[in-house]
Order: sequence, then structure tokens, then C-alpha cells
Amino acid sequence: MRLDVFTLFPEWFEWFVAQRHVRNAIAAGSELRFLDYRETTPLGAGQVDDSPYGGGAGMVMRVDVVDAALRAAYGDTPAPRRTVLLTPSGRMFDEDLAADLAAEPDLTLLCGRYEGIDERVRDHLVTDAVSIGRYVLAGGELAAMVVADAVLRKLPGALGHADSALEESFTDALGGHPEYPHYTRPATYRGWPVPEVLLSGDHERVRQWRLERSRERGGTDPGGS
Ligand code: SAH
Repeated sequence: MRLDVFTLFPEWFEWFVAQRHVRNAIAAGSELRFLDYRETTPLGAGQVDDSPYGGGAGMVMRVDVVDAALRAAYGDTPAPRRTVLLTPSGRMFDEDLAADLAAEPDLTLLCGRYEGIDERVRDHLVTDAVSIGRYVLAGGELAAMVVADAVLRKLPGALGHADSALEESFTDALGGHPEYPHYTRPATYRGWPVPEVLLSGDHERVRQWRLERSRERGGTDPGGS
């Protein structure tokens, strides 16, 4: 995958690309770029924002600045590519959307700052508007990392074990339910035992037990337990 993130703070992503699964994805052929709107702004003195029409507090990132950044990266008549605006008012990010984005050869994430980005970006320059939750962050950088993390770990070679991403929370293998609980040694700790079935060596019983626990977690409590 070629993943581009547009941001006012490319240095935030230095930590992100140093993480093992991200490094693995890069080693397996993915290319990540972090592009600074200020580098390509058509305005003087690195300006990227302006006061809102209609009045109100805060500053708004300008449409011409975002358009110039996209044109500098992809040319004046770019090939269609999946372009995601990160915004609290977007479609809620989930595992299905992560899988959908992971299937794209090219993906672009746009991070906003301040009060957000001029609405014409959403209307004309992106394919998706995505939120990572019903709360407001100071900027899109952490949201972009959340999306990139969930997407990149789905790519072949990103995780240590090829099977790790198949039977996980919200995947088809678990009927879309959260994952079952995991345990490891010691078998008893402070009087808290590991469920007996997991020590039984009976693979079919273990499989059944896990599916039941997974279904239970996906049942009445939407937040899991
Ligand atoms: N005034 C806006 C919030 C702007 S926050 C509002 O009330 O909706 C500044 C930037 O942070 C946004 O442009 C967006 O890119 C990012 N951001 C903040 N919260 C986010 C969330 N929950 N999901 C995705 N992006 C978010």
C-alpha cells in the first residue's frame, strides 16, 4: 500500500513509523509519506488557515491550501484514489472500514487542525469522511495513526504470525463479535484459575468455548465486557 498522510505536524509520525508492525509493513513493500501542508501552501509566510466566514472563534484550514498540497503530490489531474478526511462528524471508524481501506492500493489521510477544514474539501476533494469516535481531538494526527495502525496491521507481513489478524474481534471468523478472552501461565494466580477447558487439550471443546464467550461479549453489551 502507498499511504500518504497530510498534516501540519509530520514529526508526530516519527514515533509511529518506528513501531514494529509499521516497520514490518514497510519492509513488506508499503510506502508511507507524511506531507506538510505548509510546504506547498500558495499563501505567504506558511499560512494555512483563515478566520471563518460568518464569524466565530478559531481558525479554519483553507481549501486552496489543501488542494495545493494534493496537487503537489498527485498532479493536476490525479488518478482516483481513496482519500479520507478525518473529522469528528464523519462515518464512525470500525473493523469493516479498516478492512475496506486495507484493500486499497493507495490511501490518503487528511488531518485537520484548529476548528477544522473548509467544508469544500469534504464536498469536492475526498472520497470519505471518517471519525474515530464521538469526542474532539486537537488535531487529526492521532486519528490518522489510529486508522493507519488498524489498516497496516491487516496487510500481509505486518504481524508476526500470518494468522493473527484472521480470528480477531469483529472479523467474520467470529461472526463480527468481539474476541474471546485469552489466558497464559500461571494456571492459577492469587487463587484466580484459568478456565479448566483451556487446560483440557480438547481442541473441539476449546473451540466451542471460545465461540460461546465471543458471542456472549457481542450480545447484550455493545461495549463488550
Ligand atoms: N470544530 C470541529 C473540531 C475540530 S478538531 C468540530 O467541532 O467538529 C481539529 C481536527 O482534529 C479536525 O479537523 C479533525 O481532523 C481532527 N479530529 C478531532 N477529533 C476527531 C475525531 N474524533 N475523529 C477524527 N478526527 C478528529
